[in-house]
Amino acid sequence: MSHPSDIEIARNAHKKPIAEVAARLGLRPDQVLPYGHDKAKLGAGALAARRAGGGQRGRLILVTAINPTPAGEGKTTTTVGLGDGLNAIGKNAAICLREPSLGPCFGMKGGATGGGRAQVVPMDAINLHFTGDFHAISAAHNLLAAMIDNHLHWGNALDLDPRRITWRRVLDMNDRSLRQVATGLGGAANGFVRETGFDITVASEVMAILCLAEDLDDLERRLGAIIVGYRRDQSPVFARDLKADGAMAALLKEAMQPNLVQTIENNPALVHGGPFANIAHGCNSVIATKAALSMADYVVTEAGFGADLGAEKFLNIKCRQAGLAPDAVVLVASIRALKMNGGVAKGDLGVENVAAVEAGCANLGRHMENIAKFGLPVVVGLNRFATDTDAEADAVIAYCEARGVPAFLNTHWAEGSAGIRAMAEHVAALADQGAANFTPLYADDLGLQAKIERVAREIYRADGVALAPRVARQLADWEAQGHGRLPVCIAKTQYSFSADPGRLGAPTGHTLPVREVRLAAGAGFVVALAGDIMTMPGLPRQPAAEAITLTDAGEIDGLF
Ligand code: ADP
Ligand code: MG
Repeated sequence: MSHPSDIEIARNAHKKPIAEVAARLGLRPDQVLPYGHDKAKLGAGALAARRAGGGQRGRLILVTAINPTPAGEGKTTTTVGLGDGLNAIGKNAAICLREPSLGPCFGMKGGATGGGRAQVVPMDAINLHFTGDFHAISAAHNLLAAMIDNHLHWGNALDLDPRRITWRRVLDMNDRSLRQVATGLGGAANGFVRETGFDITVASEVMAILCLAEDLDDLERRLGAIIVGYRRDQSPVFARDLKADGAMAALLKEAMQPNLVQTIENNPALVHGGPFANIAHGCNSVIATKAALSMADYVVTEAGFGADLGAEKFLNIKCRQAGLAPDAVVLVASIRALKMNGGVAKGDLGVENVAAVEAGCANLGRHMENIAKFGLPVVVGLNRFATDTDAEADAVIAYCEARGVPAFLNTHWAEGSAGIRAMAEHVAALADQGAANFTPLYADDLGLQAKIERVAREIYRADGVALAPRVARQLADWEAQGHGRLPVCIAKTQYSFSADPGRLGAPTGHTLPVREVRLAAGAGFVVALAGDIMTMPGLPRQPAAEAITLTDAGEIDGLF
């Protein structure tokens, strides 16, 4: 029997009017701004009421995973399934997800709204323009770029060195041809010629800022603190020096309001913001997470990539900056992904191989240990695929139990909330117990280089870091300029604990090479680049866009 596609399941969902979903969170109609019948934004009134009401009432549950493989793990699917599972056992739960980017939508097949019977809807709208937040972010980012070139054109009073401008342009599309471009061609009327390029919108610092800002004032302050480039004497020029911060904030006013949608089981979901998980911190907005925590008893949220990147940044960057503390962590794994970590090729995943599953558990085990280093209790959520055998699943559960970590075999993808009730019961009880004692991995006052080393040794299990000489000098300069208390955001391959994407499992004997560092002064972190990190992806030979169409009935088809 062939399983219906994600979009077919989503299309057949019995959606409730969005006002009814809002009411589940205690929101009155005047506190939400409907975008059609099935989407809404939380209005300023709702956010003000949250602050007035004293903030947090709910427990925060983080969903993270083993290192990603092409076999699929299912973090989003598990986040949605667990939210539905908690509601199904009578709890009041909401989920918080990132907004999808158009680039991957049209590139590789694979959704960002969950899968099977664990999805958020309307999936086509969420995956495409949704409520326009990413367009607003692109506009705010590109306004600053335009104001930089305009400043040069009109005499460059700030004395920006045109060769040292670091602010590029963005577009929410995978378009490799725009990675390096020359602007200002065509004579004096068109400004000064300079070399620049485009990044994808999710890589914009404006995206990271929107996701970390507490409110509109904080947003504007952070936008002003963006470094756009340097003078000849290396001193930074800020967005506020160009007086761009006010207009950028004005463009982002609506984009700062969290989006409310529902799961196919009609439970509330806030889908807001979507920063990259490599050069940025990879989780949904602080404002949405805090809003959800003020309205629901349990909030389930996802961090991007594997726990070495996503959870580490969620904890060391987002939670630290926002003063959040998770109550429990769910570590997602799939038998298929464990097999790949155990050395099996993608084409052979359909064949039972208990030994490879056991070998791949080394990856799972290391992530379990790492989460414990933050003082957080962990549960393993095994996402069942149709090809998994009982012997393989038993091997994973036995591995976890031997290490004192409860593991659950979940079938929410095939069955919805009914397939994840046992884990939901356990996670709710665990979160209520107060077993968590969250401590970030490093203190604010540890040096920047020492922070990178701490993450490399404790999380990646590297023997050390190899900094390019310029990098060490640069970090020391930033400390001298007062940026030393910022957390670090390491941009490394998501496929391995090491910087080498081919080293799966639990590699040892590696060194983390840091070739470049960047100061995201507005977002409030220092990016350390370990390896080649793509900030403008390209489309594959057969882009997913080729299969996407409008049906005669005017419905979107072919999206996953
Ligand atoms: P992640 O958030 O870890 O990237 P997702 O939850 O988005 O992963 O899932 C990625 C893809 O895998 C989705 O298209 C989803 O439909 C599919 N998928 C997830 N779980 C299963 C499963 N148990 N069986 C089959 N397909 C699945
Ligand atoms: Mg996901």
